[in-house]
Amino acid sequence: MNPPVSSPSSSASCPRVLVLGGGMAGLTAAAVFARAGLFVSLVERSSRLGGHAARLSCKATDRCVHCGACLLEPALQAVRENPRIAVHTGSLARIRRAGDRFACEIQSACAAGGVPTTAEAAAVFLATGFSVFNPARKPLGYGVYANVITQLELEDRLRSAEGFLRCFGGRPPGRIAFLQCVGSRDAQIGHLWCSTFCCAATLRAARKIRHRHPETAITVFYIDLQSVGREPDAFLAECRRDLRLIRAVPGEAFGTEDGGVRLSWFDEASRRSLEETFDLVVLSAGMEPPADLPETAEALGLPLDPLGWAAEEGARVFAAGAVRRPMTIAETIADSRRAAFRLLAALGRVQITLSPEPAAAAVEGLR
Ligand SMILES: Cc1cc2nc3c(=O)[nH]c(=O)nc-3n(C[C@H](O)[C@H](O)[C@H](O)COP(=O)(O)OP(=O)(O)OC[C@H]3O[C@@H](n4cnc5c(N)ncnc54)[C@H](O)[C@@H]3O)c2cc1C
Ligand code: SF4
Ligand code: SF4
Repeated sequence: MNPPVSSPSSSASCPRVLVLGGGMAGLTAAAVFARAGLFVSLVERSSRLGGHAARLSCKATDRCVHCGACLLEPALQAVRENPRIAVHTGSLARIRRAGDRFACEIQSACAAGGVPTTAEAAAVFLATGFSVFNPARKPLGYGVYANVITQLELEDRLRSAEGFLRCFGGRPPGRIAFLQCVGSRDAQIGHLWCSTFCCAATLRAARKIRHRHPETAITVFYIDLQSVGREPDAFLAECRRDLRLIRAVPGEAFGTEDGGVRLSWFDEASRRSLEETFDLVVLSAGMEPPADLPETAEALGLPLDPLGWAAEEGARVFAAGAVRRPMTIAETIADSRRAAFRLLAALGRVQITLSPEPAAAAVEGLR
């Protein structure tokens, strides 16, 4: 006997779409599908929606710096308020293709998961996002020294001013170093891509810390400064006034007796090796395809690209967001909307006329 179906029922005229992943990409697509009259099963592995964006802090100083983190709340709201979207957090989906349909079993991810929910889907939307590169694979002291952390771990601390200071005994750290491109643009490990978010995220975080604690000195070690936002020249000029920006790649980190972390690097100008000690080292660990993506993609019949990211489209399977390649939040939203409309077109729900600029695709018939 089949387990009970607990999601709202769907019919041939109102098909169901299975959305895997409840980050910005999955939330955006789920809202588009529901507005178009479809039923949606949104399956999120972790216990809460939002994906990585839910861990980001607001970087406003005396003004908004357009980091995009607050785009999450309206996306969550649109999903929470929609009766056509059945949200399954803390859950995983087992999917079996049956002709041009998908039989899905949605099961709680915890050991004593209970009875699975079954649903039949006309299409699958893959929005399972990215993993953060584990910097323990580099000799940068991560996992060895407590004051070597990732940018995502810094975000956790920056979400509250007290949380940040608590990590340093109530006083702001005197000297912080940010190391860019950790696990990105690195041919040694086959990560040839730029992760796109991390230069801007670093500079905004560094300026936020300086705004709160002007006595803290911040150095950013970089290869190139990429994708730094809407007005790059003005923003970079502000950063150069406020931060020390050094084009160099420190290769190793060593703990010092007084609890600091010593970095050394080659200085192009003087042709000498330099070194300096910092109270906190923040590693801009980039994005990589999640380890379980090959298995998920194979189950869905979706190809991967040569670098291991998901292809855009398979048979009734559509992928969007950072599961396809590194993307910022704004890019993820745009990518997810485009892919959602392609899925609606494949189901005959809309007609899409592509203009020369894909972002300006004219969409007709969306209810
Ligand atoms: C430190 C850091 C700082 C950043 N700062 C910025 C910034 O300032 N501005 C900006 O624009 N972008 C920033 N980004 C990038 C931003 O986080 C991404 O653009 C965005 O999160 C991509 O959304 P996504 O939905 O594609 O992926 P994710 O956020 O990774 O969401 C994917 C979701 O899918 C779930 N999932 C995974 N596998 C499964 C499965 N098998 N079944 C069900 N669910 C699954 C995950 O739990 C997750 O909730 C930052 C990223 C990091 C790491
Ligand atoms: S875009 Fe970023 S900096 Fe601006 S208000 Fe939103 S969260 Fe804050
Ligand atoms: S955005 Fe900057 S730090 Fe991130 S991979 Fe690209 S160049 Fe490196």
